[in-house]
Amino acid sequence: LPSLPSSSTPPLANTTAFPRYSGVTKFSQLPLSRKTKDGLLQSGYVEMTEIQRASLPHALAGRDILGAAKTGSGKTLAFVIPVLEKLFRERYSAEWGVGAIILCPIRELAEQIFEEIKSVGRHHSISAALIIGGKEVDLEKDRVNNMNILVCTPGRLLQHMDETVNFDCSQLQVLVLDEADRMLDMDFKKTLNDIVSQLPKKRQTLLFSATQTKSIQDLARLSLKDPEYISVHEES
Ligand code: ADP
Ligand code: MG
Repeated sequence: LPSLPSSSTPPLANTTAFPRYSGVTKFSQLPLSRKTKDGLLQSGYVEMTEIQRASLPHALAGRDILGAAKTGSGKTLAFVIPVLEKLFRERYSAEWGVGAIILCPIRELAEQIFEEIKSVGRHHSISAALIIGGKEVDLEKDRVNNMNILVCTPGRLLQHMDETVNFDCSQLQVLVLDEADRMLDMDFKKTLNDIVSQLPKKRQTLLFSATQTKSIQDLARLSLKDPEYISVHEES
């Protein structure tokens, strides 16, 4: 498939652009690369869910997001799509190293996110790796620096930050904190603080959670910059 020059992606990066997207319900109506649009279609995704409709225009414009929506509402695509688009627009390839880090509480979730990236990102030449406990850490050490997207559990990522020689996140563009409430419930607060404090300040951060709590607000204050607050409730 031919790749779109990034200049053909309509700009979203100002607030006046957003009313244009308020009535948009389909992924095909968003300013996405052809590669991502085809990947979505071939993965069976046509209509956006509510959290996707509410958050994607902001996330694609490069804004930080604090998104709350219940389990099963489609939060994965709300961050996978902006991550793919950002790295595509910046023309990431293997030698560029780590461009996005996605943190989630457990291995099984990381595997699901990884599968979604592989499916929706099938036409991109962006590389992705799972960095999760229970796998050969030395094997990972050879690979972490050549991968554009790392899908990680917090403990394992911090282990690489501490132990892996030359582990380099200096070109990080996007940080995703998925199921942030569960990560905090699992006592990852200090680990997350340690990770965030070591990452470049100039980045986009997308934080998703099923619930909004005091400790989520604390994490948001630490990790987000002027976030867009997006909360989607069940229809009653
Ligand atoms: P959450 O992270 O909010 O719990 P997921 O991202 O895991 O939700 O999505 C839940 C299910 O909904 C998955 O099976 C996913 O494939 C499906 N899904 C997500 N977005 C869409 C969409 N726009 N259209 C159809 N199915 C979707
Ligand atoms: Mg999820």
